[in-house]
Amino acid sequence: MALANVHLRHMETALRLGRYALDHGETPVACIFVHIPTDQIVAFGMNDTNRSLTGVAHAEFMGIEQIREFVSPDELVPFFGDIALYVTVEPCIMCASALKQLGIGKVIFGAGNDRFGGNGTVLSINQDSCTLGGKHESIPGVLRREAIMLLRYFYVRSNEKAPKPRTKGERLLDKENFPPMQWQDYIDRDSFAQEFGDDKIACYDEKTDWTKDVKWALIEQRQDGILEELKQHHYQFGLWLKHKKVRR
Ligand SMILES: [Zn+2]
Repeated sequence: MALANVHLRHMETALRLGRYALDHGETPVACIFVHIPTDQIVAFGMNDTNRSLTGVAHAEFMGIEQIREFVSPDELVPFFGDIALYVTVEPCIMCASALKQLGIGKVIFGAGNDRFGGNGTVLSINQDSCTLGGKHESIPGVLRREAIMLLRYFYVRSNEKAPKPRTKGERLLDKENFPPMQWQDYIDRDSFAQEFGDDKIACYDEKTDWTKDVKWALIEQRQDGILEELKQHHYQFGLWLKHKKVRR
């Protein structure tokens, strides 16, 4: 259960940033990069494609750029080996491939990415032998429904802004139904038990989420302070790393 609590805590932070992205006209996909040995937040990212008008400005790349601010190119791969990425939606094939080449330690995500998912939904870049970089573990289904709901909020808002109003039926926000969670596409039973606890194994078999209720409070309110909070973490980690290098 200890590991599951760590996953929950960090995914909650990523979801809060996702909510911030939603309120700033972006697709609500966000992530944080955590230094596993110290449990500190190193970097963060949110989707930035609308503001930057760049189709490749995915959340993961914003975080990778932040890490490059204080890690030299030849130290990137050893550094990333100690990093866990918490991202609200499964990395796309492009990001999954970049993360693998950087030697990311572990990826934890919320919802699967049905069209472009690179960690088990469409391709399994993290586990295959034909792409560059080392294989890494990928854990799906952490606060999945919350990540899905953020995307649903976004689509409902986009429809409302569309020049041609859609039919009423299309605008309805579904807060009740979620697709079955296909755990077996991403993770085996033993790894599931190891991450989330033996007592949750029924969720694996029944294809349901392992957290009981949707954390509505987390996703239904604005998160205006989250960006400053994360910038502080990033800054503090940079200082810590600098001191560590000086001491070495
Ligand atoms: Zn991507």
